[in-house]
Amino acid sequence: MYDYDLLVVGSANADLVIGVDRRPDAGETVLGSDLATHPGGKGANQAFAAARLGARTALLARVGDDAHGRLLLDSQRTAGVDTVGVLVGGAPTGVALITVDPSGDNSIVVSPGANARLTPEDVKAAGSLFHASLVVSAQLEIPLETVEEVVRTLPPATRFVLNPSPPRPLPPEVLAACDPLIVNEHEAKVLLGDASGDGTPEDWARRLLAKGPRSVVVTLGAEGALVASATEGAVRVPSVKVAAVDTTGAGDSFTAALAWKLGAGLSLAEAAAYAARVGAVAVTRRGAQESFPTAAEVEALSE
Ligand code: ADP
Repeated sequence: MYDYDLLVVGSANADLVIGVDRRPDAGETVLGSDLATHPGGKGANQAFAAARLGARTALLARVGDDAHGRLLLDSQRTAGVDTVGVLVGGAPTGVALITVDPSGDNSIVVSPGANARLTPEDVKAAGSLFHASLVVSAQLEIPLETVEEVVRTLPPATRFVLNPSPPRPLPPEVLAACDPLIVNEHEAKVLLGDASGDGTPEDWARRLLAKGPRSVVVTLGAEGALVASATEGAVRVPSVKVAAVDTTGAGDSFTAALAWKLGAGLSLAEAAAYAARVGAVAVTRRGAQESFPTAAEVEALSE
């Protein structure tokens, strides 16, 4: 039997956030708020979200041998993630330096650090984790060649879910393995080479399916999501109406919940409906990981 419902392969970052009245010009210094340090990165966020829902979850990632690495390991363990696959050392932990201005706009500088050192060899060495997992999920905050090795390492019965963020062109072997490929509007447009954004989400899903994935999910923020596959056709999944205060991490919690429920045997539309409820709870609270709900909190969300 499988030890894990979900194996997440991806990034782990420390998010360092400072509020500013305005951003400094070149050569200038401005004073900001107290520093807030949060565990983040799309891989760590997805693993945290899945484990918090109750999924048996493992994370394959790399952090530095430093305080930020320990912060990330601690937060993963608190959520119940098995960190046996988290490699330590080789470079400082990835960091996102974030300034937030009074209107809520972010400016972000990312130092990938240890995330850039998660190699195809690291994936090969973690083969037993892949064989122990029902579903494998990845994003693109680690080297593309590492994601290519993930696809080559997938056991035949293991389902693969990819959120191509930050978006970039993908090789055909990676696209062909996705079941589903999960994109928001921005990622859909980049993958389609279609900055104009003409067409409906149904059009984007049809054109993305033509690139080879077995299924596609387009997330549409407060509008919910669209799921599409050759077998199930295109189906709209409504969002749950909530008072959103912070959408950070909504996509990561949606993806984790979807991946978990697909492994449990739900159809794509059923899994997306559950994931939409998870994303809806997440946007009612501030932050990323700290906003992710338990299964009981998802249950308690009224329609
Ligand atoms: P991303 O964070 O990747 O841009 P989205 O913003 O599309 O992803 O959010 C992912 C999912 O979370 C959506 O498909 C939706 O189900 C849910 N969601 C996001 N924003 C809201 C909102 N304002 N109200 C209700 N649900 C939301």
